Amino acid sequence: MSNLKPNPAKNQLLIRDSKINEYFQSESMVFLESQPSIVKNLWEELNYLRNRPLSKQKAQKMTQIDRPVASFSKPERLREGMGTEITLIFRSSACSWAASKSGGCTMCGYWNDRADKSISGQNFWNQFQQTITKYENLLEDSSQSIVFKMFTSGSFCDPKELDLEIQLKILRKLSTFTSVKEIVIESRPEYVQEKLLKQYEEILTNQYLEIGIGLESRSNYVRNNIINKGFSWDQFVKATNRLHQYGFGVKAYLIFKPPFLPEYAAMTDLFNSIRACVKLGADTISINPTNIQQHTICEVLHSRNQYRSPWLFSLLWVIKNGFSQEELQSIRLICDPSAAGKDRGVHNFDPYHPSNEYCLKILEKFVHTQDLSEIPEHFPEKWWIAYRSELLTQKK
Ligand code: SF4
Repeated sequence: MSNLKPNPAKNQLLIRDSKINEYFQSESMVFLESQPSIVKNLWEELNYLRNRPLSKQKAQKMTQIDRPVASFSKPERLREGMGTEITLIFRSSACSWAASKSGGCTMCGYWNDRADKSISGQNFWNQFQQTITKYENLLEDSSQSIVFKMFTSGSFCDPKELDLEIQLKILRKLSTFTSVKEIVIESRPEYVQEKLLKQYEEILTNQYLEIGIGLESRSNYVRNNIINKGFSWDQFVKATNRLHQYGFGVKAYLIFKPPFLPEYAAMTDLFNSIRACVKLGADTISINPTNIQQHTICEVLHSRNQYRSPWLFSLLWVIKNGFSQEELQSIRLICDPSAAGKDRGVHNFDPYHPSNEYCLKILEKFVHTQDLSEIPEHFPEKWWIAYRSELLTQKK
């Protein structure tokens, strides 16, 4: 890990250097990819952590299989401007990847929200119906522009998690609402297959479908050795091309600062990942600064004082330098960090520091407008100097 320590000379360059884009591009992830596997028995530890709380969850979850984990509505940026988001988080059995011997991804705690027995197609349908009823007025109002997001804490397209028949029934129902302009679901790339997309295409004649894929990083090393994701960049590229072939979009989820990467390396990784996704033609890029979820490797490291969530200054800085305004005409950038400003989420200094609110307001305004000038070139000097000096010494 010694190569990953912050390098003062590099960090000097990081501060307001107009040539920083070129610097980041030439500074590839080669140094990371040449590292040996960091944690040998990662999946064993992960499985242990995940299985530990099961007995406590059993009774509670068993009674709730016809109710989603959550559903909510809020303003959101659609492709054609501002509109409304309706989000439905299904209660599902589990992500197949997390349930497999792989143990799942090192920062993912979605496993905690699963039901402890298999969920039938009817249960999914009941959860969906409940959400449709809750937001009936919005959905029936044809003057609305709605993006309907459905998350299964796994892969919507995986027939082992969600019967194909129910996948199609849900999409068919959504296609009847003229207010719904966009539908967003998530899947690992191996389930995004032509045969399935053809069936989706026959139903969704008027709506734009976007599938979010947790690419996390352009680097195969970071994705597979650090995050334990289990798929390659090539698989992501193939899934993207398939989606585009059917007129659908791809949303690339990029993680900011997975465990084992110090701040500077994480900034480099995010920057390189953004550039690769822009070049590939991703339709939306969603940046997810790591938040510390229960029963994950991240939580273990955090409890041992070996992991800190990323800084808001770093996040804004990479966004400002990772895109050009011209690119944001055709790519939508989303960033709605969980636990933002708190110890378990992206934050500056400490959770009560005023720079948190300052940066979060800037981030929100930028996401809504997609205007890079909302992110200042210069942050208040006092904060910036303190941040820089922390970054130079920070090793977690
Ligand atoms: S991040 Fe996605 S693929 Fe990884 S364990 Fe969580 S739900 Fe599964």
